[in-house]
Amino acid sequence: MAEDPAAIPVATDHHYKEEPTVLPSELEIRDVVGIGFGPSNLAVAIALEECDAPLDALFLDRKPGFAWHPGLMFPGAEMQVSFTKDLITMRNPRSRYTFLNYLAEQSEGRLGRFINLRTFYPTRVEFNDYYAWAAGQFEDRVRWNTEVLAVTALPGEHGTELLEVVSRDQVTGETFSTFTRNLLIAPGGTPHVPDGTELGERVFHASETRERLARSFNNPTAPYHFNIVGSGQTSADVFMHLRRSYPNARITTNIRGFAMRPEDDTHFVNELFLPEFTDWFHGQDEKFRQKIIDEYGLAAHTGVSYDLIPQIYREYYEDQVAGGRVLALHRFTELVGVRADADRATATYAHLDSGETSLVESDAVILATGYRYPMPIPALSGINDNLHMETPQRYAIRRDYSVESVEGFEPKVFLQGFAEATHGFSEVLLSLMPVRAAEIVRSIAEHRSVEAR
Ligand SMILES: Cc1cc2nc3c(=O)[nH]c(=O)nc-3n(C[C@H](O)[C@H](O)[C@H](O)COP(=O)(O)OP(=O)(O)OC[C@H]3O[C@@H](n4cnc5c(N)ncnc54)[C@H](O)[C@@H]3O)c2cc1C
Repeated sequence: MAEDPAAIPVATDHHYKEEPTVLPSELEIRDVVGIGFGPSNLAVAIALEECDAPLDALFLDRKPGFAWHPGLMFPGAEMQVSFTKDLITMRNPRSRYTFLNYLAEQSEGRLGRFINLRTFYPTRVEFNDYYAWAAGQFEDRVRWNTEVLAVTALPGEHGTELLEVVSRDQVTGETFSTFTRNLLIAPGGTPHVPDGTELGERVFHASETRERLARSFNNPTAPYHFNIVGSGQTSADVFMHLRRSYPNARITTNIRGFAMRPEDDTHFVNELFLPEFTDWFHGQDEKFRQKIIDEYGLAAHTGVSYDLIPQIYREYYEDQVAGGRVLALHRFTELVGVRADADRATATYAHLDSGETSLVESDAVILATGYRYPMPIPALSGINDNLHMETPQRYAIRRDYSVESVEGFEPKVFLQGFAEATHGFSEVLLSLMPVRAAEIVRSIAEHRSVEAR
């Protein structure tokens, strides 16, 4: 299987340290250690800076520098949320980390021209640049090229008092430890690969699209045949990118349902993303919460930007006018297996309407099949016995995003992105990140002042 870019890996060798751990001095202990420095932990870094408590933090990220979903950073692709859902505006519009302040600090006239665009939806390229600008202001608190391998519990007088985070510097290969009482986990979603898929050079998850196309499909005029699997926003973005980049390519999109459906961001539905919604949602019983998630999935997960659908439809229409040679939409079609050979990808599709299956050869199969937040988290295998599970697939996550733990386990483990079932849709989206970040920081500060007493 190809390397999964977002998953926290399992430490393959639990005896990675031959020496027994020497307990760190107070000076070596960080108030906060964050795994990952994407938008979630970047929002936390800002909340830490803007809070009154003097908390020191270190964030560890395996990337060489800030990059938001680089494999899907297609020119022209737009954000699915308003720029006001940046790293801070929802909580503190006066902050210097707002998107508008970013614009003001860029080249002369940029703010005025953005305003003159009359849009709430910047391109992803521009928003990535905004994130990178904000991240650049925390360089002294981030260690890039650093992969977290494992987390273990260090015993104190009354139980577990500290966590040891074991990481590897990807440039030097050196393994080192960081110690903390508050661990913030924000590794992002793990690309979902359907069962029966053999990943390879010609079969890959959409999260790797840009680098795979550059490496293996570098002739823009070639009549490649691409098969896309999936019907959400990523599938739509990949389709438009392929269509623009390879005018002679055959593009087949395979979707399980009848049609791609629009994201529902109409006004009343969008109140799902108001800050006060999280409290309400968290207070409901499990069955009712699940009903909301099932009913409003189009608001968060499965919908395509409303404006993009007619653009895609026009491409199909124009292809039909030209003789209908290169574009195809296969409905009620489910991928059930793919073989990746050196020169082609062979996919097996089940046709849910006719009950038949078909074998399709193409130059590449691109899996726009979404992301998951698998639990228990493999990198926490060293401490998972201390953490409560609400179901076999889900931690018991408190309102403050920390995981319930056994008696005597003092450190706090906060999860970001993993609590959709209990905290609502904003968990996996950008909308409420500043609010969530502030709630986590408040909880850490309170925990610390209780300890200090
Ligand atoms: C293509 C795409 C577009 C999206 N667009 C929108 C949108 O328009 N609006 C919206 O609301 N939501 C959007 N989302 C959903 C969501 O907001 C984003 O996924 C967001 O990036 C989540 O932020 P994060 O910081 O939790 O995770 P990520 O951005 O995935 O960042 C996680 C970081 O953790 C690092 N990491 C992971 N494991 C380790 C490890 N073991 N050691 C060290 N570092 C590690 C990674 O290198 C990465 O930098 C989008 C998602 C995708 C995939």
